[in-house]
Amino acid sequence: MDNVEMFESESKGRGLKATKESWAGDVIFAERAYAAVVFDNLSHCVCHCCFKRQEKLQRCGQCKFAHYCDRTCQKDSWTEHKHECAAIKKSGKAPNENTRLAARIMWRIEREGGGLAEWCLVSIDDLQNHIEKFEEEEKEGLMEDVQNFLEYWPSQNKQFGMHYISHIFGVISCNGFTLSDQRGLQAVGVGIFPNLCLVNHDCWPNCTVIFNNGNHEAVRSMFHTQMRIELRSLGKINKGDELTVSYVDFLNLSEDRRKLLKKQYYFDCTCEHCTKGIKDDLLLAVKEEENKPEDSVVKELIQFSKETMEKIDKARSEGAYHQVVKLCRDCLMRQEPVFADTNIYMLRVLSIASEVLSYLQMFQEAAENARKMVDGYLKIYHPSNAQLGMAVMRAGVTHWHAGFIEIGHGMICKAYAILLVTHGPSHPIAKDLEVMRNQTEMELRMFKENEFVYHSMREAALTNKPFQVMKEPNVETPKNTFHKKPQEAK
Ligand SMILES: [Zn+2]
Ligand SMILES: [Zn+2]
Ligand SMILES: [Zn+2]
Repeated sequence: MDNVEMFESESKGRGLKATKESWAGDVIFAERAYAAVVFDNLSHCVCHCCFKRQEKLQRCGQCKFAHYCDRTCQKDSWTEHKHECAAIKKSGKAPNENTRLAARIMWRIEREGGGLAEWCLVSIDDLQNHIEKFEEEEKEGLMEDVQNFLEYWPSQNKQFGMHYISHIFGVISCNGFTLSDQRGLQAVGVGIFPNLCLVNHDCWPNCTVIFNNGNHEAVRSMFHTQMRIELRSLGKINKGDELTVSYVDFLNLSEDRRKLLKKQYYFDCTCEHCTKGIKDDLLLAVKEEENKPEDSVVKELIQFSKETMEKIDKARSEGAYHQVVKLCRDCLMRQEPVFADTNIYMLRVLSIASEVLSYLQMFQEAAENARKMVDGYLKIYHPSNAQLGMAVMRAGVTHWHAGFIEIGHGMICKAYAILLVTHGPSHPIAKDLEVMRNQTEMELRMFKENEFVYHSMREAALTNKPFQVMKEPNVETPKNTFHKKPQEAK
């Protein structure tokens, strides 16, 4: 941790600042999880060691709960799993992810003590829990978790007081980092990374945090090949600058981002983009031509868009994808004459439309929507935003599949350039993109030489489905940095 140091100030509390200059794409620090677990509903299809999603996993013969890629992954995580394995076996079933994570943290504390580990700037004991700010409902959830924990925790292990157990659950609730699968398609688990917890939020940050599941082929014993998070610089950072990441997706009005941050992380964002409302005008922009829409028309359309969005989300979660397409088409037809291309209510519909149409293999229409979406995104997002990079990548693949090879290749190159900064060249997604870039480059050359040969070759290539970059549209994507359980709507 020699690139950063902790500071404490009246106004911002704790934070991290750079002790060295860095440039776009530099890894400022990397950190392994203090403890991490796979989500309950994915425990059988995600490796409990490296968090990769795999077709075939091997099950732990003892507890029959943990699953691994292979013997190596199983061996690597035995220290973390040993006590858990016995506890699950004894109780006959695994408790929920929060309880499993809390127990893994406690077993580690039992092993190593709760003080400062040598690679940490802050100890687990010293992390914030925000319990005093919990609403009634959250407090009830906390009590339930503590109860589950007490039933699960073996009597022969070190016993912790109620106060301490609550602290750990509070820490998980506020600081649990969302882990994604190796393609970044799905949120698959949650982990605690103490140093990362010190990095404050800014809606327009100078760093990004990326989860790298590691690399099986490389030498396993070396630190840099194992699963870890990386704090990566998005541009030039000077010595002494505070390091920041964004906890939420930028693609929201400043007012909505602030509400979300307050609700999830209990602070009022005072970043420049929030206080000045930077880009809000773009996010709400309407057509500027001579027939500029009336205010009342705009207001009504925003209301209609919000209502339609709720219907779309519901249909999507039920897997009714043709219904989603119909709702999107109707909504876009009303939005397009009124909203400008950066309008957030239209971008949201375009994003879902292109995603679902791709999934249904209606590539031409998907590409058309994806292109409009990317045009808007490029005007709104920071040029090195990971969400932007992923969106451009998906749009590029959609264009490729639709046969728009020139635009497709251009987008894939653009996405690759962004992901080299946000993910780094060794990340599995960047590696995929590199292969796609070479493939589309070759196809583009072929296309320019002989269009007929190109089209017949493309048909053959598509049936091989070489890249999995689209997810089933109803799975939870890793959108927010920290995995805070949304409160049940009542
Ligand atoms: Zn694995
Ligand atoms: Zn086991
Ligand atoms: Zn902000």
